[in-house]
This record gives sequence, C-alpha cells and structure tokens, in this order.
Amino acid sequence: MKNSTRKSAAVLLLGLLGMAGLQSCRPGETVPQNVILFIADGSGFNHVAAASLFMHGREGAQVYTRFPMRCAVSTYPAGGPVYDPHSAWQAFSYVEDGTTDSAAAATAMSTGVKTCNGAINVDPDKNRLTSAFEIAEQRGKSTGIVSSVFFSHATPACFAAHNPSRDNYLAIAREMLLESPVDVIMGCGHPLFNQQGKPALVPCYAYIGGKETWEALRLGRAGGDADLDGEADAWTLVETKAAFQALMSGPTPRRVLGIPQVFQTLQQERMGDGQAAPFTVSLIEGIPTLREMTLAALNVLDEDRDGFFLMVEGGAVDWAAHDNQDGRMIEEQIDFDRAVEAVVDWVEAHSSWKETLIIVTSDHETGYLTGPGSGDMASGDDGMSAVWFPLQNRGRGEMPELQWNIGEHTNSLVPFYAKGAGSLRFEEYAVGSDPVRGAYLDNTDIGRVLIAFLEDR
Ligand SMILES: [Zn+2]
Repeated sequence: MKNSTRKSAAVLLLGLLGMAGLQSCRPGETVPQNVILFIADGSGFNHVAAASLFMHGREGAQVYTRFPMRCAVSTYPAGGPVYDPHSAWQAFSYVEDGTTDSAAAATAMSTGVKTCNGAINVDPDKNRLTSAFEIAEQRGKSTGIVSSVFFSHATPACFAAHNPSRDNYLAIAREMLLESPVDVIMGCGHPLFNQQGKPALVPCYAYIGGKETWEALRLGRAGGDADLDGEADAWTLVETKAAFQALMSGPTPRRVLGIPQVFQTLQQERMGDGQAAPFTVSLIEGIPTLREMTLAALNVLDEDRDGFFLMVEGGAVDWAAHDNQDGRMIEEQIDFDRAVEAVVDWVEAHSSWKETLIIVTSDHETGYLTGPGSGDMASGDDGMSAVWFPLQNRGRGEMPELQWNIGEHTNSLVPFYAKGAGSLRFEEYAVGSDPVRGAYLDNTDIGRVLIAFLEDR
C-alpha cells in the first residue's frame, strides 16, 4: 500500500468498511410507548467491530448491527465546525479537531439542542433546556438512567440535571437525587468503596451529593417528587449484586437508586494489567453487570402503563479508550452489548416492537481507533495521502489487531441503530452522506425525534 493513491484508499475503505445505503424501508411509522436509548460512550464503528471480532470471530455479529434502521451520527458541539464528510476522508488528522465532549453530546441527544462542551442541559448562554425525559415525566411515563460509571458523570447527568459545568458533581448529584422526577438511577459512585470494590480507607461523597445526602438515602429519607403529586418520593437504595439480581424479576419498589459497591466504574478501573486481553484479569466480585442493572431497571419501569424512557450508558468504553486499553475497551463494549441483547430479548418476551423502540448509538468516538498501518503515507506525486485500514481479525477469543491514534475524542461519525416503534422516523433525518459511513443524521436529531414522539401523543 506504499504507493496507494487517495482514490484507491477510498475504494478499499468502501469495500472493507462500507456502511453506505444499508437502511431498509419497512412500515414502522408509529409512536413508541417505551424507549430504551443505549449510549456506548466513546464507541465508534471500530470499537463495535473489535468487540464483534473478539466475541464472534467476525464483524457485524452483535444483534443491533442487524436492526432495520442503520446509519451514522455527527457529533460536533455548538460552534462547530460542522462535520465535513469529504475532508474527513482526505486528511487523516481532520477528525482530531472540533470534537465534542460527553456533556454537549448527551445534551444534544436529550434535548435536541447543540451546546458547548461541559454544559449539562443548558444552552451556550446557560439557559435551562427541557429534556425528552422531563417531557416524558409530564406525560406520565416513568424514566430511568443506568450507567457503568458514576451516575453523576456527564452522560447520565444530561438525563436528569441542568448545570453549566459537568464538573459540579455535588450539585448535579443533588439535583438528580433530590429534585429530579426520575424513577430509577443506577450507576457507580459508592462513597464507601474503592476502585477494587473494597472498603475505602477514606470515604468520598463527591459523586453522591455529599455525606448528608448519603445518610438520608441510607435511612430511606431522600428523594424528590417523582410522580409530580406534590409529595416527596423517597428512594429505595440497593447496593449488592444479589439485591440487583433480586430486582430483575417480581415486584419492585416504586423508586430505586442502585449504587454498586465500587467507586467510579463497575470493572474498568480495577487493578491488574490494563493492556491484558479481555477477561484475563479477574473481575471484581459482588458487582452487578450492566446487563443485570439494565434488567433490574426495566423491571421497575415496566409497571407504568403510560410507558417509560430508559437511558443505558456503557460509560467505561470511553475510559478504556482514553487509556488506549485494547482488552478493557473490548470488555466494556461486550458488557454493553450484553445489556442490549438482554433488552432485545425482553422486548420479544414482555413487550413488542410495535410498542417499544430500542436505539443503540454513541456520543462520540474516543482514541481514533483504526486498523494497523493507518495514517498519512507518502504517495507518488502529491506528497502525503491518508489511508485507513480495517481491524485485523485474529479469530474468536483472540485480540484483533488494532491501532489507537490518539488518547482523546474525535469528530468521527459514530454508529446509530434502531428497531421498533418509530424507528424509521430517523430515516427522514439521515440526510447527510458520508463516502464511507453512508447516510448520517446529527445528534440533535435524536433528541428532536424523541421529543416529537412525546408531543405527537
Ligand atoms: Zn471521553
């Protein structure tokens, strides 16, 4: 490939990575009763591919990659630059500039409005924005948030808080726990446990709204007005893996706060070689998986006859990608994929695709993950040209060969998959055309469509 021209590199890309023209046309123009929005934080097309290669020995094996609505998403924050598909596949470094953070991206998906990096559900002038979750609550639906990182982190915060800065964890956690009407919150941030899931030498109440809030939670005395009847609705706190598993079936409390006994992430921040192959460093015991947390959340929310909105974040895909950890990124992506699979099974057993919509997407790509050898290469007459190679498959259970190009976010398009009621509504918005990824919509379109569903009723 040393002498490859831009054109032949583009042809290679289209052949090996092409996602163009994959949308199908099926009647599905209904309004969903239930929406489950899955966000794999920091996950691009190649993160999904890497997990599939490791798990199945081939790309495109995850259940959601065969959903009827498939396209890509642009993620740039307020002020741009607007993603330019042609420049993105001409200069290798194009996607390294103008990147979003999780706060701006999740605000776009939750409210339909672009904002600046760091902002949680407020616009660039710090005006409060209304999220789809708030409207869902006003329409009598239940709402829930599940994350594999601490629950007051940027992505989950954008579904229940408003703050000009994502770093104001204390205020964000307090708004989520004491003011928001959300019915289920499950995520890390336990004040009394460390990254290994062992008792912490020094408690840290930073992510849980302070010591006072934690003590009120433990006494069953904390919580805002979830059902909007003017009276406070206290949280039922669950902490152990067994308690999460018990919530997966049978009767449940009305309002559940699930804080696994670990500090910032379920598993990604545990000790051991961060570069080791997936699942070779033993997992922390006593911690639920994202799948178990998601099924527990669903079992609480599905009592509501008006339906529910649930957001599930694979938050530590991004953390592993920032650290360029091959194995842990794949572990986190697999944990996320298993949660999606479980919800697909739940829809088929307990709901239907006429009633429920599942969306699987990402907020931005992290690490600029490509196949080995990608980058700027000397080309015949015009100096350098950029080439992107696919990941190299080493077979099931073996690490694919991959290349991290940076430790930060990129402006690359990310994947979008949807199935169920209303899923084809997104087709109308997928008007962008990328030479490699095909049709794409913008992250604000996700928020706009979710809000339109609620206003259509
Ligand atoms: Zn990140």
